[in-house]
Amino acid sequence: MVMESGRSGRGADSAAARTQGDDSTAQEALASAGGGRSPVYGYLRRPSMVDYPGQLAVVLFTAGCNFRCGFCHNPELTGQPRLGMSWPRLEQACDTMAANWVDAAVVTGGEPTMICSLPELLVFLRARGFRVKLDTNGSNPDLLARCLPLLDYVAMDIKTGLSEYAALTGFADTGKLRDSMQLLRYHAPDYELRTTLIEPIHGPAQLQELADMVRGAHRYVLQPFVPGAALPDPEYRAYPRTSPQFLLRAREVFEGSVDELVTRGT
Ligand code: SF4
Repeated sequence: MVMESGRSGRGADSAAARTQGDDSTAQEALASAGGGRSPVYGYLRRPSMVDYPGQLAVVLFTAGCNFRCGFCHNPELTGQPRLGMSWPRLEQACDTMAANWVDAAVVTGGEPTMICSLPELLVFLRARGFRVKLDTNGSNPDLLARCLPLLDYVAMDIKTGLSEYAALTGFADTGKLRDSMQLLRYHAPDYELRTTLIEPIHGPAQLQELADMVRGAHRYVLQPFVPGAALPDPEYRAYPRTSPQFLLRAREVFEGSVDELVTRGT
């Protein structure tokens, strides 16, 4: 299985762009037979230096997502949630990583909060001494609230202004996104909100709506859209990679409205 990571973005987005078309770093997908399967559908064989700020991390993927983003770099990981590796196999993978100076884990997808046993996975990772980061689209504040005490860092994707969310992602319950943002603001040990900017999508009105939405956030990250031949919507395949100039101009819209403004991938 070749997974195109992205989360998305969610982390999902950065991992996707990095592994796109790179079979040598292809994630290991282990649909293990029998019961006792963990939420981890696959993982990057190589530790990551970019998915967890300041940490060398193992990147673990869950399968299933309730959004339908045409620009998704992980279409194999969307749809209904599925379990993956056996717990013993996951333990073996984590032990191998830990023996190679990996001291952090990133749980990404798909959308990890679609997996009801996600807290069990977080307990498992913490018991092995990993610092743990979660990538999420913010659609499940109830499970997110249960997970926060088990997390060191959360990255939540903000796809666009709320008025365009349903059109862009197929997800219309924007109240849940607001709830997740509030949870992060007041209860996360550390977090970031992040947006992958797509030039034909994020015009001036959308940028202003985004600025109003993320105002007061602890950390807000802007990152470029990277096109790819396997994106679900052909329209996005033809869009250009977001230019550094666009990112820098967009950055001006958010200056002074968040505690820390970060631009990645320029
Ligand atoms: S469909 Fe899901 S995994 Fe793909 S970009 Fe959207 S939120 Fe992320």
